[in-house]
Amino acid sequence: MPSPEVVHLLCPECVEAVNVTVYRSIDNRLPDAADKVISGELFKYRCPHCGRKDRLEYDLSFHDAEHNAWIQVVHDPAQIPDYVTALNLSSRHQGLRVRIVHNIHEMREKTMTFVMGRDDRILEIYKYIAKAQFLLQSPDFVLTREPFYAGSAETGDEVVTFLGKGGKRELAPLDESYYQFLHTEFAGQIQAEAGRYVYDSAWAKEFAKGIV
Ligand SMILES: [Zn+2]
Repeated sequence: MPSPEVVHLLCPECVEAVNVTVYRSIDNRLPDAADKVISGELFKYRCPHCGRKDRLEYDLSFHDAEHNAWIQVVHDPAQIPDYVTALNLSSRHQGLRVRIVHNIHEMREKTMTFVMGRDDRILEIYKYIAKAQFLLQSPDFVLTREPFYAGSAETGDEVVTFLGKGGKRELAPLDESYYQFLHTEFAGQIQAEAGRYVYDSAWAKEFAKGIV
């Protein structure tokens, strides 16, 4: 079963002890698992003493058989090689899209990507190019983080969000024809990279160097 575990932590605000539920591994036996990962509700908590709301950050895996994916969160980059070795040795993940991500936000983004039927690697390249174009058009916009994708199965909307200094926020709807163009051009080429599990902005940057 998905492994909820109650752990104790100290509220950063009032320093009282708080019990929170932590999921080290999630799979589809948890009803609406993908929706709960995407909404982030599994990782939110509220301090019963002072009312402070916060999000938990910890390492966990999400086996989303429904969307043919295994996503592992690894916060410490130094631990990634050990996870890669373990994944290479295991047969549990055969046929799944196996991904290692750096935090829960990235796990939510990958989950959305797979729920929307997208290729996350093409989307990483798409975001890399969209970022370059965006910064060219908005030279005064100072990005505070990498742009990220969000899609809603309910509305069908898909956007790339740019967050900037001063609380600035710009949304760019996903350009379907450009996504399809990138897919046609590069999907085959990426297939060759067996044994790789990290597909993030740094990967997209390296990949882009090889194509321009
Ligand atoms: Zn508190």
